[in-house]
Amino acid sequence: MKILSYRYDGLIKFGPKVKKEEAVWDVLAIQETLQVVPSFPETIVEGIANGMDFVEQMRKLTDAALKSEEPGQFKHAFSTIEWLSPIPRTPKNIIAVGRNYEDHAKEMGLQSAPENLMVFTKSPTTIAADKETLSVHANVTSSYDYEGELAVVISKKGDNIPKKLAYDHVFGYTIANDLTARDLQSKHQQFFLGKSLKGSCPMGPYLVTKDEVPEPQSLSIVTKVNGEVRQNGHTKDMIFTIEDLIAEISSLVTLEPGDVILTGTPSGVGKGFNPPKFLATGDTVKVAVEGIGTLVNRFE
Ligand code: MG
Repeated sequence: MKILSYRYDGLIKFGPKVKKEEAVWDVLAIQETLQVVPSFPETIVEGIANGMDFVEQMRKLTDAALKSEEPGQFKHAFSTIEWLSPIPRTPKNIIAVGRNYEDHAKEMGLQSAPENLMVFTKSPTTIAADKETLSVHANVTSSYDYEGELAVVISKKGDNIPKKLAYDHVFGYTIANDLTARDLQSKHQQFFLGKSLKGSCPMGPYLVTKDEVPEPQSLSIVTKVNGEVRQNGHTKDMIFTIEDLIAEISSLVTLEPGDVILTGTPSGVGKGFNPPKFLATGDTVKVAVEGIGTLVNRFE
C-alpha cells in the first residue's frame, strides 16, 4: 500500500493512494461517515504503531467506500491537496547514518569504509514534503548539498531488537533528501546544526508498506539535479544493512513508532565533485528509489 499524508481543507489527513487514479482516499472521512471499524487512529503515527493491522483497517475502509453509493465523496484528487511528508512529525529527531556507502565515504575524504556505525540526527523541523519549494539558505551557507537516501519508517517500539527480528519493527519505506550545509557541518564539532536547517529533510511522496518492498537491500537510488544524474547507487552497497542499523541503534536508543532512519547516501554528492556542485537557486533535485517513487524539490 502506498500511503500519503496531506492537507485538505485546512486539516492534516492521511490515506492510501487510489489505485490507478491520481487521487487519495480520505480514510478519516470514510470512518466518520460509514463507521466501518470499531475504532480508527486519528494520526498516521498512531496508525503505524499498529503495524500491518493498520494497513488491514485501511483496506476495509476503502473497500467499504467503493461499495458505498457515492465513493467519489471519499477521494481527493492530487490537484486539490497539499502534499505533506508521509510522517509529518517524527517522535524524536530523525536518525541518520553517515558514510554507509564505501564510495561515498571515499569521496568525503576517508581512506576506507568506517568500521563503526556513524550516527547523527536531524531536528524534526527539517521535515518537508515532496513537491515543496525549499530554501538553499544562502544567508547562512554557501555549500548546501543533496544526499538521496532510502528512509526506513519504524512501526513497533523496541529496545535491543535482534537482527533476525529487525523487519518486525519496520512499517515501510520512503525517500529522503538529507540536505546538508557542508560548511556548517565541518565548522561545528557535531553535524546537528549543519544538518538541521529548516526544510532540510524533504520526504515522500509515499510511505510504501514493507509487504510491497520485499527486498529493500536490492533497490537502485538515483539523484538528478536539473536532469543531470549525480548519484547512481544501489542499496546492496550499504556497509551496514537495515538489519544491522536497527539492531545496533536499538541496543542503545529506544526505537518508537514513527521514527525514521535515513540509511545513508551513495557517492555523487555535490562535495564529491571537483569543483564541488552545490545547490543554487532555481535547481530541481529528484531522488528516485526503485519501487518507492520519486521525491522532487525545487530550491530558491
Ligand atoms: Mg545522509
